Amino acid sequence: MAIIIPERYFHVPKAHRRPKEPSAKKLRELASKWITNLRASKTGREAERHALADLLEACEPLRRCYSAACPRCSAAAQRWAMEELADLWPEETDLVSMTMIVAKLHRPIGELATIELSSIKRHLQRKFEAAEVSAIPIWGYIDISHNVHADGLYDEHWAPHLAFVTLAGNERDLDGLKASLERNNSSKRPHRVDEVNDWDWQVSYVCKFRPARRVEFEKLTPRARPSKYWLQPAQTVEFLLWAGQRHPLDRFFLLGMRRYRDGLQLL
Ligand SMILES: [Zn+2]
Repeated sequence: MAIIIPERYFHVPKAHRRPKEPSAKKLRELASKWITNLRASKTGREAERHALADLLEACEPLRRCYSAACPRCSAAAQRWAMEELADLWPEETDLVSMTMIVAKLHRPIGELATIELSSIKRHLQRKFEAAEVSAIPIWGYIDISHNVHADGLYDEHWAPHLAFVTLAGNERDLDGLKASLERNNSSKRPHRVDEVNDWDWQVSYVCKFRPARRVEFEKLTPRARPSKYWLQPAQTVEFLLWAGQRHPLDRFFLLGMRRYRDGLQLL
């Protein structure tokens, strides 16, 4: 049975929203845009696209669709999960955020459906186990990006990857995990760690539900970052069909902790 997300997470007054957090109106507009993309697209099976569009269209107060393709349900799940995290690790706790790219999880454009969310999570779990760090508390989220190299150094592809936060004191323990990540042209920097000093921004970034298209250029300086854009319609539809059958909370990846009744509990 789907986990019910309390309705208060769907209507957050401006005074309580994070800077740049989309309003209910903005999320409704995004849902309409995605519904239009689904109906108009040539990507994927027509019946499946219309069924998902119908589901998103029917999402309304107290009758939520609970699809990970729904911006309203995904934003509500994000807010709820962040509130639980803030209860577990209050703002003064020293945290680090880490992004980890696993080359084996990459898929060509058009083939995202060949990797299920559950197998991504199993693969990641095995990586933590192999590095003997599966007992460290990890609060993570499966992010997806569409990676493109402007000069064609690699083929464009989907890169499902893990973004997470953990206690700053655990950072050194993650060295073995970092060392296990494969480096190649499309993942020259397979991990990135940052201290969390802007909690709202960094934690919401860890669990952002909307995928980005990441365009990389030949780097002039080692710290130069790729440019990010929203997905184009065909990739939006491919992503939505991939996410559509899952609950928004399924994208979270927890290790060393679990969701228990009304909060997170360390194991
Ligand atoms: Zn919904």
